[in-house]
Amino acid sequence: MTTVHIVGAGLSGLAAAVRLVERGRRVAIYDQADHAGGRCRSYHDSVLDRRIDNGNHLLLSANTAARGFLAVVGAGDSLTGPRRAAFPFVDLAGGMRWEVTFADGPLLGRLPLPPRGIPDVTLAQFMGAWRLRRAGPDATVAGTLDTGSALYRRFWEPLAVAALNTECAQAAARLLWPVVAETVLRGGRYCRPLVARDGLSESFVDPALAWLRARGAGLHLGWRLRGLTFAGERVAALDFAGDRQVAVDGAVVLALPPASAGRVLPGLDPPLETRAIVNGHFRVAAPLPRLPYDSPLIGVLGGTAEWIFLRRDVVSVTVSAADRLAEDEEPAIADRMWRDIRRAIDIDCGNELPVYRVVKEKRATFAHTPSSVRRRPKAQTRWTNLMLAGDWTDTGLPATIEGAIRSGNAAADLLQLGNSTR
Ligand SMILES: Cc1cc2nc3c(=O)[nH]c(=O)nc-3n(C[C@H](O)[C@H](O)[C@H](O)COP(=O)(O)OP(=O)(O)OC[C@H]3O[C@@H](n4cnc5c(N)ncnc54)[C@H](O)[C@@H]3O)c2cc1C
Repeated sequence: MTTVHIVGAGLSGLAAAVRLVERGRRVAIYDQADHAGGRCRSYHDSVLDRRIDNGNHLLLSANTAARGFLAVVGAGDSLTGPRRAAFPFVDLAGGMRWEVTFADGPLLGRLPLPPRGIPDVTLAQFMGAWRLRRAGPDATVAGTLDTGSALYRRFWEPLAVAALNTECAQAAARLLWPVVAETVLRGGRYCRPLVARDGLSESFVDPALAWLRARGAGLHLGWRLRGLTFAGERVAALDFAGDRQVAVDGAVVLALPPASAGRVLPGLDPPLETRAIVNGHFRVAAPLPRLPYDSPLIGVLGGTAEWIFLRRDVVSVTVSAADRLAEDEEPAIADRMWRDIRRAIDIDCGNELPVYRVVKEKRATFAHTPSSVRRRPKAQTRWTNLMLAGDWTDTGLPATIEGAIRSGNAAADLLQLGNSTR
C-alpha cells in the first residue's frame, strides 16, 4: 500500500489524516513544530501556572464537520455549552445587558425564526440578512448592511468581526452569508455555543493523535518542509530542512498556512494579508460568576474586550481584527481588558490586576477581504497526487475550526475519488 504524506499537523492536516485512515489508507504526518494542533492547541503557561488554549475558540452546534471529527476520534463528548442557544451581552458604554436567544422555528425547525432579545430591534429588520446572500464579490459587510441600526451594532457587527476576524468595512459580505445560512437561519438547534471543556488539545489534538497512532499512522514532529521535487505531473519527493528527503510513492496533502504553502509550491498565489487576534488570560482567586443560561462566554460592546470566556479560575478576553491593539504594550492591554472584565461580570477580587498573560497572535487568520477571498485556491492542484488543505483554502467558509476540518476532509475525499495514488 502506498502512503499519503500530510505536511502540517494542524486541524486540517489531522482531519485529512483521520479521514484517509478511516478509508484504509496509510498516512505519515509531518510538522515543523514540536507539537501537533497548529493554531488550535493548549499549553501550560508558566506565568499563570495553568493550561490555557492558544486563543479562546468558540464553535457552534452547526459545526457538523468539527463534531463529526471529534466523534470519529472518540472525543464527541469533549465540547460543552448551554442547553439553549443563548448568548449574554453587555454594552459597557450604554450600561445595558441582554441575552440573544435562538429558537427552533415551526415545521420541525424548517421555518427559521429570527433571534430574540436584542434591544430596539424588530423581527422585520432581520430581513436585511438577505442582502448578504445577494452581495457581490467586492461587497463588504459594512457596505451591505445598515450600519446605523441597533441590529448592526448589537448583532451583525459582533458576529461578523468574530467570524471573519476582519473589520466590517473591509470584510467580504459573501463570507458572512454561509455563516448566517448555516446557523442563524436554521434556528436554535444550530446556534448553541460550544467550547472545549478541558482544552483545545484535549478535544481536538490528543484524541486524534492517539486514534491515528493506534492505527499505525506515523507522526514526525520537528520536520520543516523546504521544497518539493516534481517528476512530470506528480510530486516525487518532499525536501525537509536538515537534508532529509522523503520519496513519495503515493500522494501528498499540504496542510500548511498560506505563507508556507506559497514558499514550497511554485505558482501558488495564496492570500497573504492577515489579521491579529489578541487574547488576555487572567487567573483570579475569587469564584467566577455563573452567566445567564450557564453560558461559557459573554459578548461585550463598548470596550476593548469583545468576548469574555470563563473556564475554572481563568477569565479570558478575546479581541478580533486586533492589529492596532497588538501594537500596544502588554501591561496596557491587560489593564484595559481587566477593567472591562470588572464591569462586564460580577467578580469580587479587589482592584488589583491579577496574574495575567496577554497573547498576541499577529497572523491569527488571513484577512477576509474580497481580494483575499479571490485568492483562495481549490484543494485540487495541477499535480495529480497533490492536494491542498487549510482554513485559507477555498472552503466557502471563514477561517475557522469548521473550515479547517472541512478542508482536510475535502482533500482526503478528492484523493480517494481520483484514486490517484495506488
Ligand atoms: C487566537 C485564535 C483564535 C481563534 N478563534 C477561533 C474560534 O473561536 N473559532 C474557530 O472556529 N476558529 C478559531 N480560530 C481559527 C482556527 O484556530 C484555525 O482556523 C485552525 O486551527 C486552522 O487549522 P489549519 O490546519 O488550517 O492551520 P494551522 O493550525 O496553522 O496548521 C498548519 C500547521 O503547519 C505547520 N507548518 C507550517 N509551515 C510548515 C513547514 N514548512 N513544514 C512543516 N510544517 C509546517 C504549522 O506548524 C502548523 O502546525 C482561531 C485562531 C486563532 C489563532
